[in-house]
Amino acid sequence: MMYKTPEDFMVYVKAKNPNQPEFHQAVDEVITSVWSVIENTPKYQAANILERIIEPERTIMFKVTWTNDKGGVEVNKGYRIQMNGAIGPYKGGLRFHPSVNLSVLKFLAFEQVFKNSLTTLPMGGAKGGADFDPKGKSDTEVMRFCHNFMLELSRHIGPNTDVPAGDIGVSGREIGFMFGMYKKLRNEFTGVLTGKSLNWGGSLIRPEATGYGVTYFAQEMLKTRNEDFNGKTVAISGSGNVAQYAVQKVNELGGKVVTLSDSDGTIYDSDGIDNSKLAYVMDLKNNRRGRIVEYVAEYRNAKYLEGKRPWEIECKVALPCATQNEISGEDAKTLVKNGCYCIGEGANMPTNPEGVKVFLKNEALYGPGKAANAGGVATSGLEMTQNSMRLLWTREEVDTRLKAIMRAIHQTCVRYGKEGDYINYVKGANIGGFVKVADTMIDQGIT
Ligand code: NDP
Repeated sequence: MMYKTPEDFMVYVKAKNPNQPEFHQAVDEVITSVWSVIENTPKYQAANILERIIEPERTIMFKVTWTNDKGGVEVNKGYRIQMNGAIGPYKGGLRFHPSVNLSVLKFLAFEQVFKNSLTTLPMGGAKGGADFDPKGKSDTEVMRFCHNFMLELSRHIGPNTDVPAGDIGVSGREIGFMFGMYKKLRNEFTGVLTGKSLNWGGSLIRPEATGYGVTYFAQEMLKTRNEDFNGKTVAISGSGNVAQYAVQKVNELGGKVVTLSDSDGTIYDSDGIDNSKLAYVMDLKNNRRGRIVEYVAEYRNAKYLEGKRPWEIECKVALPCATQNEISGEDAKTLVKNGCYCIGEGANMPTNPEGVKVFLKNEALYGPGKAANAGGVATSGLEMTQNSMRLLWTREEVDTRLKAIMRAIHQTCVRYGKEGDYINYVKGANIGGFVKVADTMIDQGIT
């Protein structure tokens, strides 16, 4: 084999992709998990799968110019990383956030390849977005940005080529503006984006899917210890799409969610965020586009922890649903010390490498994002199917399929991740996702 150890290979990755720490982190995690599989599979070595799988098939970077409400001209960077299309059309979200850069999107696109493979649906991996911040912008500014972003992106996507979806900063409003421009440019009504509104091709349960899916996945992990959510205290971070529907599903399953957060701080409500409080949060975040601190003015017994994440709060289950690297090694130690033993990642790569080590060392039920949050993209896949058939499935039908997919992903993780009595979900998800893509790349030859 060309590389003796994962560390050896990482020297190559870092030299080829300098100054991309998030991408290095994501590659390192997958490669470490799959190393023994590659060592024991000569055909992967002969086909040089390692070097091929970390190289994006296409990296598109473009300028987005638009005018703000005062008539000023603004410039942002737009991206689409088409990472791997072996098993299906590229699929993955668009993120609008000032922290977006090539490294962040390459990490997300790389993760997406294995996540999509795990869903059992035929989807390749991609990710894109812009360093545009929708926060504080008017609807018309967001519209002008989305339209100008699509002017370029439309050349690279299509219902059988690449089907983007939402992610941080991109929800129904932004998808609508982008879809409108795509339709105008191409003069065709087609399922080129997922996360659409119900009136024009969206799927029931798509907005709920990632939050519901991560909760179903955590439920499956708890089942392996003959437990469930009933009566358990749950800490959730974020207060966006994924976090909101995770709260809703945990409530339905009898758990008590005590935290939510945004990039300014955390609210702690020891009485639990029940469905009427959740309705307040949804209105605050989705309609009024306010900050989570406003919760404590409405619910006086709740506390606001300015600048803090939720991980100091005692809980049995933690569902990080905000962003990457939001649980450090120290945070993970605090969580474990306070009795947390089940972590389901709604966000992508929310736990840093030290934190992952802490969870694995303590034999926690630790479901990494690429398995635990795959319900979102899986339901996007179901939206694509409905668009192709020009049909709308019922809520029950989509939810039943989502549950079945989350159970199947859990089984794949168990199959590849069992280490004695412990299930190492990191290893299980990485190997389970990798093998299908690598085998397909070999089937299709050197392309
Ligand atoms: P939203 O934009 O709806 O919400 C994001 C939430 O996370 C907001 O509360 C936001 O707070 C907070 N947040 C964002 N960046 C930071 C930061 N740097 N520090 C602290 N808090 C932050 O996004 P989603 O809910 O859609 O996505 C959340 C996570 O889930 C992301 O990691 C995404 O990649 C992942 N994911 C999403 C899927 C989906 O279907 N939407 C599918 C699979 C994964 P603020 O308002 O202050 O920015």
